[in-house]
Amino acid sequence: MNPRNQSWNGCNWLILPLIGTLILVALIFYRFGERWLRVILIYLSHAQWARNFVSDLGLARRVARRFVAGESIDEAMAATRALNSRQMLVTLDYLGESVSEEQEATAAKDEILNLLDRIEASNLAANVSVKLSQLGLRIRPELALGNMRQILTRAKIYGNRVRIDMEESELVDITLDIYRAMREDYDLDNVGVVIQSYLYRSESDVEKLISEGAWVRLCKGAYLEPPDIAFPDKADTDMNYIKLTEMMLSKEARKNGLYLAIATHDEDMIHAALDYAKTNNLKPEEYEFQMLYGIRRDLQSWLVEQGYRVRVYVPYGTAWYPYFIRRLAERPANLWFFISNFFRH
Ligand SMILES: Cc1cc2nc3c(=O)[nH]c(=O)nc-3n(C[C@H](O)[C@H](O)[C@H](O)COP(=O)(O)OP(=O)(O)OC[C@H]3O[C@@H](n4cnc5c(N)ncnc54)[C@H](O)[C@@H]3O)c2cc1C
Repeated sequence: MNPRNQSWNGCNWLILPLIGTLILVALIFYRFGERWLRVILIYLSHAQWARNFVSDLGLARRVARRFVAGESIDEAMAATRALNSRQMLVTLDYLGESVSEEQEATAAKDEILNLLDRIEASNLAANVSVKLSQLGLRIRPELALGNMRQILTRAKIYGNRVRIDMEESELVDITLDIYRAMREDYDLDNVGVVIQSYLYRSESDVEKLISEGAWVRLCKGAYLEPPDIAFPDKADTDMNYIKLTEMMLSKEARKNGLYLAIATHDEDMIHAALDYAKTNNLKPEEYEFQMLYGIRRDLQSWLVEQGYRVRVYVPYGTAWYPYFIRRLAERPANLWFFISNFFRH
């Protein structure tokens, strides 16, 4: 990422509204707590005015760089090579979501096809993660379906796999429908899906995925969902995470061919999974842990040292803004880091 020429010394006064917003956010956190801070940050992750401000800030680019491998495919390849050399697998994510123009969806599909070619040519231990809204789901579901089909067909030629990330709750049904269409209608079984433990519906989705022997990533969920759809309390999301982990590590699930990726940085979730695996004599290659690029690198290394499979989710591209803001929303300390750096420059 090349930080643009924007510094405090350069006195870009357009920055003042952003500072005001950050201070307001800090005050809201102080007064109302973490949930409201999250509400505001998730709102900001969709707000075009905030995106325009933040995407142009050199400092934001530098802080985002902690979570994003770079803007170019070459930088993503370099980050993957470095992780592979530390015995870590990778899933690459070309950043982008909720596109509103058909050409954007086609361009994203072309980039992902190129990404699959580059992984193959460089012989890297990496697969790919995509978002259906990046492939045109919000324009026309058939557009996303067609793009996904081309991506999976290319991946299959290389013996590679593609995981469909899970987005906001209103997209869960259509995402699962497209996931199943790939497997059942087009015989593209190199596709995986994601389940979010904050959703009430996830337990019944998991029961079905177990019967289908699916390739599943389990995460807690990164979006803002109403209490009639998702557990409002983190403790319940965590409890459900452990329950769903155990369901998908069970003998029945494994017998059906289900392969689980436990995607979390939460040590309690990781140790619960390890305890279950130990008690039930699972081998380390029967499941994997996944973590995001730049987050809990110590824990990633520790798991590899203990002989477990770890896959790092490596995002790259110029559309880093919503991904970056969601990472701030997950952990207020990241926001303070951003604000304190702001005043240091
Ligand atoms: C590989 C991977 C893929 C994912 N894919 C999806 C997806 O498809 N759809 C979706 O909705 N969500 C996805 N997520 C995000 C996920 O839903 C959570 O929002 C995110 O992982 C934080 O939850 P946690 O399990 O780490 O637990 P938390 O309870 O949120 O965090 C536990 C601890 O992890 C550390 N931590 C967590 N987040 C951060 C952060 N941003 N910065 C620094 N430290 C942090 C902190 O030490 C924290 O105390 C994915 C996450 C991972 C790891």
